[in-house]
Amino acid sequence: MGWQFSIARLPRIEFGAGILRRLPDIAAVYGRRLVIVTGARSFPLSPHRQPLYAALKAKGLLWSTVEVAGEPSPELIDDAVRRLRGAHPDVVIGIGGGSVLDAAKAIAGLLKPGNSVLDHLEGVGPEKPYEGPATPFIAVPTTAGTGSEATKNAVLSVQGEQGYKKSFRDEKLVAEYALVDPDLLASCPPALIAANGMDALTQLLESYVSLRANALTNALVLSGLAAARFGLPAWYEGGERAARGREKMAYAALISGIALAQTGLGSVHGLAAPLGAFFPIAHGVACGTLLAAATRVNIETMQVREPENPALVRYAQAGRLLGNDTTLDDAGAHALLVATLERWTELMSLPRLSDLRVTAADLPRIVANSRGSSMKTNPIVLTDEEVTRVLEMRL
Ligand code: NAD
Repeated sequence: MGWQFSIARLPRIEFGAGILRRLPDIAAVYGRRLVIVTGARSFPLSPHRQPLYAALKAKGLLWSTVEVAGEPSPELIDDAVRRLRGAHPDVVIGIGGGSVLDAAKAIAGLLKPGNSVLDHLEGVGPEKPYEGPATPFIAVPTTAGTGSEATKNAVLSVQGEQGYKKSFRDEKLVAEYALVDPDLLASCPPALIAANGMDALTQLLESYVSLRANALTNALVLSGLAAARFGLPAWYEGGERAARGREKMAYAALISGIALAQTGLGSVHGLAAPLGAFFPIAHGVACGTLLAAATRVNIETMQVREPENPALVRYAQAGRLLGNDTTLDDAGAHALLVATLERWTELMSLPRLSDLRVTAADLPRIVANSRGSSMKTNPIVLTDEEVTRVLEMRL
């Protein structure tokens, strides 16, 4: 960690229960013609939909819709851009999980330029620089989450043998506004809470130990981890503490997005990309199932090969915070961190890779495709054997 850093552009952030009510006023600042991107099922069934549409109508706003079922593909983006750009939309609003927000972000990026998203996807095609201009984008997350409301990338996937998960990334894609309303999370079922919560937790931890971590992101991450320590179990378990837990996790996810956009990620996300591309495994499930094992391998590898690596001090700090014990020395805190993550993995029934139809024979291909951008900021360069060990621990 050094004191030399730059912080990339952030959205304006409106956070709080009921904040969705502000959306019509905020959208109207950009113009009358909206594109609204939602999930295929969750938002259409949501009790928030009808009052929102009534308020937009009352303001005289006009909109076209895009529905996103599953994680978005380049084809979905290109089709939407082709269909909608003739209407010259003034603003794109994404209301949904990470899949919807990423689709909305990419569509907003390309409505004006009109070219294919494949021109810009990292590691796919010509990787042309993105010149913009982007159409203003308002992100309204309904999961907690991916933090996509605060990041500069949209993850697009093609599933199957030749599949990939790659980012369209540029600072011009960052949302103008992130409207984070914890009330929108109320309908998330436990399995979604678990997967998304572990995704946010992974993003916080990976940002904290990233090679590009800095003083400002570290301060934010610690507040995010403190929120997740209470928020994730409280929300998952339900009952009286659930509403407060939701609020805390909405905050933790937002912070995880702010941090990762500055620092990059690590080995869990390096592996989540090929897992999600080759198998129908949701992103949060991939992250959640690997987090404890990957943390263990990072710590043990650094203890042996790089005992002076500053990430070890930060892992210890995270262990004291998440495990709620400030008295431990670094070795004790490392053990507590891994034990806490393992306990949460069990408690929230994150499936093992073999439950998700991954076999030992698949591991070499997954490892070979894990060296994308996330792996580059892992605090230690892992060998193929070490990356394989992470997967083996979760088979
Ligand atoms: P998702 O958006 O794919 O949604 C998963 C399911 O949850 C869907 O069936 C959806 O309909 C449902 N859902 C969403 N909100 C709900 C609610 N409030 N109540 C009930 N059901 C609801 O899941 P996700 O984990 O939020 O997003 C995953 C995607 O985000 C992946 O493609 C991943 O790669 C991407 N991602 C992007 C970033 C980024 O910075 N851009 C970061 C992390 C992950």
